[in-house]
Amino acid sequence: MLNFEDDLSLASPAASSGRAPALATPADGPAASVPEMDDISLRRVRVEDKRVINGQADVNQLVPFKYKWAWEKYLAGCANHWMPQEINMSRDIATWKDPNALTPDERLIVKRNLGFFVTADSLAANNIVLGTYRHISAPECRQYLLRQAFEEAIHTHAYQYIVESLGLDEGEIFNAYHEVASIRDKDEFLIPFIDTLTDPQFRTGTPEADRKLLRSLIVFACIMEGLFFYVGFVQILALGRQNKMTGAAEQYQYILRDESMHCNFGIDLINQIKMENPRLWTAEFREEIRALMQKGVELEYRYAEDTMPRGVLGLNAVQFKEYLRFIANRRCQQIGLDELYESATNPFPWMAEMIDLKKEKNFFETRVTEYQTGGALSWD
Ligand code: FE
Repeated sequence: MLNFEDDLSLASPAASSGRAPALATPADGPAASVPEMDDISLRRVRVEDKRVINGQADVNQLVPFKYKWAWEKYLAGCANHWMPQEINMSRDIATWKDPNALTPDERLIVKRNLGFFVTADSLAANNIVLGTYRHISAPECRQYLLRQAFEEAIHTHAYQYIVESLGLDEGEIFNAYHEVASIRDKDEFLIPFIDTLTDPQFRTGTPEADRKLLRSLIVFACIMEGLFFYVGFVQILALGRQNKMTGAAEQYQYILRDESMHCNFGIDLINQIKMENPRLWTAEFREEIRALMQKGVELEYRYAEDTMPRGVLGLNAVQFKEYLRFIANRRCQQIGLDELYESATNPFPWMAEMIDLKKEKNFFETRVTEYQTGGALSWD
């Protein structure tokens, strides 16, 4: 039986960057003294004391709200809830078993795709839970990060569910990030930035450390979630548009919607930190970020070439070069950097509809995808 008192005594007294809780918990028992009025007014969280990083306000007090945008994204994420096993995979299983239903290049795309994604969302989850979360001192943002961490778990679950449904070689797929160079290179690029945040010794509070945090947040939101996922998304959704692997494509469509929100939250977080700490955003730092973005485009382009050695599904690597440039420009613009590539255009305008599931019934018509239970989404 659950012991309520014991449960309370396990509550963390104060989060890493917060002040001690204002009031004694019931677990402290009758000996706890009644605080004076002055103490109460000092300890109560004031909106103006909240900060996204290096805040001194108690992180256990979600309200009063300061960062409404984070709370609204949390509500929208909950309204978009879905689970992988709700999607019927029987057509995909039949397609995969039929030797004539898919070309070898199409099979390569599916396997490479899963090879990247099965571990990518675990990296993302670990980055949030073991890294980002403890450096963020706004409880509204932490609330969203908790939701995001669960969504990363759902995504890993979805990829595992596809691997299991199709009867793929688990060892081959789950080890692809060690064994396939174009996947390994992307992960090796990311890992130092994740390591910064998960290092138990790492603390924010100096301009150098705060810039390190900001750099890692930008790499995570704008390059990992905002760029490295997109070749894979286009490929599987293009298969779905041709009525192939529609169960997998439907799962990717939900994942794309979640990831698009993760990326937008990350961008809002980055911009809020910039606004609260304008000294971090130096010309030198901006140039460094643009160079990282360029490196990200190169790595993702190599991945596109590796997964599509020949044209397939009406897609080719050259289109992806343009697409990645278009996305990188968009990410730069979203965080206030000059664009990197002049007049890059979007060769896959249909992807915008894929992100916005609300607009119409599910594209693949396998089921109705309106998961909304409350709140409204806004996509930019
Ligand atoms: Fe994510």
